[in-house]
Amino acid sequence: MFEKTVTELSTALRRKEISSVELTRSFLERINKYRELNAFITVQPERSLAQAKAADARIAQGEVGALTGIPIAQKDIFCTDGWLTTCGSKILSNFIAPYDATTIDKFNQAGAICLGKTNMDEFAMGSSNETSYYGAVKNPWNTATVPGGSSGGSAAAVAARLAPAATGTDTGGSIRQPASLTNLTGLKPSYGRVSRYGMIAFASSLDQGGPMARTAADAALMLNVMAGFDPRDSTSVDAPVPDYTKSLNEDIKGLRIGLPKEYFSTGLSPDVAKAIDAAVAEYKKLGAQVVEVSLPNSQLAIPCYYVLAPAEASSNLSRFDGARYGYRAKDYTDLLDMYCKTRAEGFGTEVKRRIMIGTYALSAGYYDAYYLKAQKLRRLIAEDFRKAFESCDVIMGPTTPTTAFKIGEKSDDPVAMYLSDIYTISVNLAGLPGMSIPAGFDPQGLPIGLQLIGQYFNESRLLNVAHRYQQVTDWHKRMPKGFG
Ligand code: GLN
Repeated sequence: MFEKTVTELSTALRRKEISSVELTRSFLERINKYRELNAFITVQPERSLAQAKAADARIAQGEVGALTGIPIAQKDIFCTDGWLTTCGSKILSNFIAPYDATTIDKFNQAGAICLGKTNMDEFAMGSSNETSYYGAVKNPWNTATVPGGSSGGSAAAVAARLAPAATGTDTGGSIRQPASLTNLTGLKPSYGRVSRYGMIAFASSLDQGGPMARTAADAALMLNVMAGFDPRDSTSVDAPVPDYTKSLNEDIKGLRIGLPKEYFSTGLSPDVAKAIDAAVAEYKKLGAQVVEVSLPNSQLAIPCYYVLAPAEASSNLSRFDGARYGYRAKDYTDLLDMYCKTRAEGFGTEVKRRIMIGTYALSAGYYDAYYLKAQKLRRLIAEDFRKAFESCDVIMGPTTPTTAFKIGEKSDDPVAMYLSDIYTISVNLAGLPGMSIPAGFDPQGLPIGLQLIGQYFNESRLLNVAHRYQQVTDWHKRMPKGFG
């Protein structure tokens, strides 16, 4: 059963070939068996099984949606009522959320089961899942390598079949990059498509939740649940939500694929480049045409992001002060000392680095030189995409410059780590939807992801383009060895 996709499990549940309780139990057993991956921060089997029992009752009454009874792993960034919600940080290591994030609430309404909370980089800051207070997550494809980050726990869980699907969040690549490194299908929706209410904020103008699954069809089922306007999130967009499964099979004959020349230059591993070329050739067989496009400001995306994201983070993270909730330092002399010690002890190195950079960039003397300048660059980057989409329907390229790197390899070199997101970050800056889908393996057997970038709010087109490719390839079906 664990090898089945969400789509297949959904059918099996409806046909009563299996119950949600049995299914949930078998995934909980796998989570326990493969604990060494460190994919989960919290599991609460009694709670998950109680939800499964309720789902079985719904199924018995014929009240079924596609996700009723399906266990889903939730990134530990989503507040989940009654569950420890840590965001991968010591400062929230004792925080039991008193309410559900909208995303969690929507999965609950759909009758899905919360299988557990997945490990992640602290406050979603990272590309390797090594900044988590709960320790690094291992990549099931080679446990000496990273699964990517920040949604590394979700990625490892789905890749090792410890969960049929999971949620992730993507501020600069954290759904697509781990999906790429673990052979998954990950979708970052357009900014505003999925509610951020109850999703612990990192950089509010960039953060977006989305699905991490094995196939585009499964991602479509997940997005059907996650997408939609939420009055509790002022940046959520009130636009109609289509049924994302409806357009999966549409013909892609005549599709114009834009290949940005800047994405195929220095820094791209030859193995990755080869796999992307082969994927594009496959698309041509399906009737697509290829045009070269240019995103001239691509090289500015990382410096722009590393001013804006830390600036927003420094403001968002000011709420963690030990006074209201979360960790509080033990010995302090007065209120100020309590704040200082709590934050010094509660935050890890990467988070502190970002708070310092962000505070500096926002300070009176430097605001114009850094923050304002970065906002202008952001506009130019978005404009590049607008122009590129005049001559193509979908942009394609690599998701990451290399396959999974070794645990420890980049942890002392923040800039090398930041460069892992070179192809993904500009998509967040522009607010566009982006996807990563399995597109091959390097000679070491590590997965390679193809990135698809679409027009605003056109997630259905991306899912359609991804699905057509998955009908003629089997990369997404490959499973890491040792998890059978
Ligand atoms: N790796 C990027 C960062 O550390 C992006 C993280 C994310 O998308 N949450 O900021």
